[in-house]
This record gives sequence, C-alpha cells and structure tokens, in this order.
Amino acid sequence: KEKTLAMIKPDGLNYTDDFKRIVNDFGFSILRELTMQLDEDDVKLFYAEHSKRSFFPNLVKYMTSGPVFVMVLEKVNAVADWRALIGPTDARKAKITDPHSIRAMCGLDSQRNCVHGSDSLQSATREISFFFREIVST
Ligand code: ATP
Repeated sequence: KEKTLAMIKPDGLNYTDDFKRIVNDFGFSILRELTMQLDEDDVKLFYAEHSKRSFFPNLVKYMTSGPVFVMVLEKVNAVADWRALIGPTDARKAKITDPHSIRAMCGLDSQRNCVHGSDSLQSATREISFFFREIVST
C-alpha cells in the first residue's frame, strides 16, 4: 500500500464532510488528520519548488487565508488515485474536462483549487513528514 498527503486548502474547508465521504467511498484509510493555520514560512517551505514563480506571493496569501485540513491517506496506488480524483490544477478546466473531480466541485480557478495531493511517492514522503514528524516512510 502507498501513503499520500491530501490537503483541503482554506477555500475548501466547508467541504470537509464531502471530502471524507469521497475518501471513504474510494477505499482510502485515513491514518492521520489535523487542522492547522499555516504561516508564511510554512507555505514557503511546503511550496519551495514554486518560490520563484510570479504567482508565489498570491499563493502565500491564499494558503494563509484560513486553516487547512490535512490527511494522510493510505491504499494501493494512493498517490495516483488521489491525484486523479482531485482533477487538473485549474479548476475552471476541471469543470469542463473532469466534471466529477473534486476541483470541479469546489475550486474556482488555477489558484483557488480547494485541494492538494502529493504528485509522487517522493513528494508524499516529504509532505507527510512536513506535517507528521513520526511517519517517516511511505
Ligand atoms: P498542488 O501542488 O496544490 O496539489 P498542483 O500540483 O495541481 O497543485 P502546482 O503546479 O504544484 O499544481 O501548483 C501549486 C499550487 O499553486 C496550485 O495548486 C495553485 O494553488 C497554485 N498555482 C499554480 N499555478 C498557478 C497559477 N498559474 N496562478 C495562480 N496560482 C497557481
């Protein structure tokens, strides 16, 4: 089995019950969960790969605009399956190409896309240890 990190971003918090239903319906186990308010330094670390992008200051504002809800999910093929469920980065595109995806349900555009999922096993390991020190491997 694999583990992945799923995050509900500040604009998605009202959808927490829908998320949990989807997580259950698709056979993921929730190993850990927490709600926290990220600060600027947290976002800079979490999204370090994007720190030079023009949208980065807006990304920091968005991600610190309210609490996030984080889950460690486990199942066979968890990383790819969760990415497939959330849909493409741009929620406007998701509404057209993946109308049943999570981002189509609660996202607005390429920034406010309401949810995150690790994009590889390596990212999953890094991101899980970012929030949950005690889990060291996927
Ligand atoms: P995430 O890493 O949050 O799961 P992703 O892997 O689909 O999303 P990335 O390219 O890693 O997309 O971008 C990280 C986040 O930065 C996006 O989810 C979005 O909130 C924001 N972002 C990405 N591209 C843009 C953009 N062009 N304009 C504004 N914000 C953006």
